[in-house]
Amino acid sequence: MSVIESIKAMIKGERIERATVLRASTLEGVIRHVVIAGDGIRKMTGYEPGMEISVFVDGQSMQVRRKYSVYRFDPQKGEIELLIHLHGQGPGSAWARLLERGDNIWFRGFSGRITVDRSAQAHWFFGDATTLAPFAAIAAAANGPCEGVIDGDDRIGRVIEALQLPFLQVDKRNGSSRQSGIARTLDLPVPTTIYVAGAASTVRDVQSVLLVERGFETGWIRRKNFWGERRR
Ligand SMILES: Cc1cc2nc3c(=O)[nH]c(=O)nc-3n(C[C@H](O)[C@H](O)[C@H](O)COP(=O)(O)OP(=O)(O)OC[C@H]3O[C@@H](n4cnc5c(N)ncnc54)[C@H](O)[C@@H]3O)c2cc1C
Repeated sequence: MSVIESIKAMIKGERIERATVLRASTLEGVIRHVVIAGDGIRKMTGYEPGMEISVFVDGQSMQVRRKYSVYRFDPQKGEIELLIHLHGQGPGSAWARLLERGDNIWFRGFSGRITVDRSAQAHWFFGDATTLAPFAAIAAAANGPCEGVIDGDDRIGRVIEALQLPFLQVDKRNGSSRQSGIARTLDLPVPTTIYVAGAASTVRDVQSVLLVERGFETGWIRRKNFWGERRR
């Protein structure tokens, strides 16, 4: 681990956890469903549905980190499940594709701000393949109806169906997300907590429609850029 990484971890009081891959399977060729287990996971605290862990995707060298949200957390069993989009262009995606039972993984967590609003009576989600895990976790913990739209092709649609998630898959049109159009016409009970995450450009466009055109209150919206053309 670099000196900067060590200092950051020390300041935040975060421990490096080590776990082992219990199961890893590929859903529809596009999402890697990974279950990790370890004694350290049993002692992890401060989890809220929607939070993520930071995984060292280069293993013990601990130089390259990527964030992946928790799909399911079971402190009794000491297990965490992840749903990782195999987009095929970076070290995180390559790492997830090659993971096998018995592999060691090193990570820090939990962290994150796009978490379930337990006081809300209704929840709406705008996301993509990278947001299936946090949105599934939030929907499982939320009170009241949960619905939303997820950018992706038919394979993502079949993953949503297989995992029984309350979301509708939406194809892009000419390479562009249709989510801001949906945000323009959406008829929601007021107030509804709206979670917006995934590709930075879509998050920006949807947020602009909701706040500027629709006049929704900032407090109803929980947003986070998960990935963009430029590296974070
Ligand atoms: C709080 C948080 C939680 C997240 N949770 C999840 C999660 O649960 N599951 C998950 O799959 N991802 C999640 N992500 C997104 C994930 O961290 C990014 O997609 C990350 O960039 C992947 O790293 P990489 O090494 O594969 O690609 P990078 O090295 O970061 O990028 C390489 C290239 O790939 C492009 N790229 C990166 N991600 C994608 C993508 N998803 N689709 C298409 N192109 C992409 C980049 O624009 C760049 O051109 C989360 C991100 C954040 C901030």
